Amino acid sequence: MSLYTDQISHLRALQGVDDEIHDIQCQIESAPAEVQKLEKGFAALDSQREWIKDKIKHLQDQQRRLNYDIKDEEARLSNSRNKLMQVQNDHEYQAVMREIEIMKRQNTTRQDELAALRDELTKQEENLAAQEQEWEAARSALETQQSGLEERLAGCRAALEELSAKRTSVGSAIEPPILKRYEFIRNRLRHPVIVPVDNGVCSGCHMMLPPQHFIELQRGTSILSCPSCQRMIFWSPSVAEEGQADTAAPEQEQEN
Ligand SMILES: [Zn+2]
Repeated sequence: MSLYTDQISHLRALQGVDDEIHDIQCQIESAPAEVQKLEKGFAALDSQREWIKDKIKHLQDQQRRLNYDIKDEEARLSNSRNKLMQVQNDHEYQAVMREIEIMKRQNTTRQDELAALRDELTKQEENLAAQEQEWEAARSALETQQSGLEERLAGCRAALEELSAKRTSVGSAIEPPILKRYEFIRNRLRHPVIVPVDNGVCSGCHMMLPPQHFIELQRGTSILSCPSCQRMIFWSPSVAEEGQADTAAPEQEQEN
């Protein structure tokens, strides 16, 4: 194995470790967002539920007040009926009768109001019952995610520590100036650092390599960079020959 192929294969091994690190870092970044999404969904359901509960409470208060008013009016009505027994003349009689009529009309209005209120109350209670299941499901999904989040993050951190040790050992097989170049690119460019060139096209940035550059790449004497994206490149037929065409896949996902 020439020094060139040896270094390329170590660089690709390092890229393999960095692919795993990148994958875990993506998980760490997206994990809280998943919980936040659930939190948001639950908060919306919860405020909707609180609104319905407030509405029900308000309707119940109104109902109580109306019932009280109706009873009060009934008591006054019965007073007036007693008064009717004790009237001295027709004039007084008419006055009490008018009083009774007004009270009766008021009570009819209140009874109508009460009926409408009961309808609305039934409707809101049905709303609450319908919402309850969805609310409960959202709440338990959120709780599961929240308790799972810390566990998942701890798992990710442990995996990262292991990978960090692995990357040191893999990196030690790479010539220091080449490793330095790799790290330089890794710190400045989007993942990944070293990419295959397939049919003359850099799979990191999808730009066609200048013909001269491509010929030099095929010669395989020095580690080249893509003139467009500056990533390290290697000629992809060598990937097929080695039967390790897997490095291209995660990198393509990344570009989407
Ligand atoms: Zn490129």
